[in-house]
Amino acid sequence: MRIGIYGGTFNPVHLGHVHLLREVMQTGLLDRILVMPDRTPPHKQAPDLIDGKKRFEMLQLATMGMEGIQVSDFELQREGKSYTYMTLRLLRELYPDDQFSLIMGADMLLSFREWRNWEEILSGARLIAAARDEGEYERLEQAAKDLGNTELVRITPLPVSSTEVRAAAKEGRSLEKLVPQPVADYIRENHLYQQP
Ligand code: ATP
Repeated sequence: MRIGIYGGTFNPVHLGHVHLLREVMQTGLLDRILVMPDRTPPHKQAPDLIDGKKRFEMLQLATMGMEGIQVSDFELQREGKSYTYMTLRLLRELYPDDQFSLIMGADMLLSFREWRNWEEILSGARLIAAARDEGEYERLEQAAKDLGNTELVRITPLPVSSTEVRAAAKEGRSLEKLVPQPVADYIRENHLYQQP
């Protein structure tokens, strides 16, 4: 099977994530996508990072009924930081017959050389990347060419970020245009991201 791993903090999942998942699934490049919230993000400091179980539950709400998409607790279950090279090593041991790809937005592709053991990652997994904002494709094309083993998916960008969702929740603004409705309800009911 051709499996896509879509990793991230998902603090919380938003419409930009869901849009990317839909578009990548539609390309036919993959049979299945595992959406994998990380335990401790190695790429960023996250003072307002909420509990993994809640991020996982919101992902389940956001991807409910989407064919081929499964939320995985593979990284949440593992002690320590969620390094991608380690996740891929473990997955390859468990599923030696499958082919793995990594799905990511522009920011992650453009900083891919900062990932730990990025060369090992790239030698064993194809990257599938898309823009988050208008006007990013030229830079993405250059990065894809430089890295190799990278596929760009042309999407109409949906420039939403989790940072924006957390700020809106904190200020009591509407979340309806930023996250799927069940996720907006979940954030409200659980009083998430209210701390200053
Ligand atoms: P934060 O604002 O907290 O930094 P984020 O919105 O960047 O969060 P992450 O959970 O860090 O969300 O992102 C997970 C993955 O999804 C990354 O590969 C990121 O590039 C990608 N991504 C995030 N938002 C979008 C978007 N609007 N369009 C396409 N890809 C996205």
